[in-house]
Amino acid sequence: MECRKTSNLEGCTCSYIGCSKKGLCCECVSYHRLNNEIPGCFFPKDAEKTYDRSIENFIRTYKLKK
Ligand code: SF4
Repeated sequence: MECRKTSNLEGCTCSYIGCSKKGLCCECVSYHRLNNEIPGCFFPKDAEKTYDRSIENFIRTYKLKK
């Protein structure tokens, strides 16, 4: 299977420009999962830009949005 980095980047909402995993969703998911975190694209824009990828922040964010 061919890497889809270019097309993945078009839909990537992560604002951390310097990340080497940006557009490489398999590496992004793997990295955050190992750290008990969730990739930036799962967060709404305002929460994403804090770079807090913790599961706790994810739950808190969506509880506040209800
Ligand atoms: S979510 Fe994390 S691993 Fe994925 S591109 Fe953003 S900073 Fe990199």
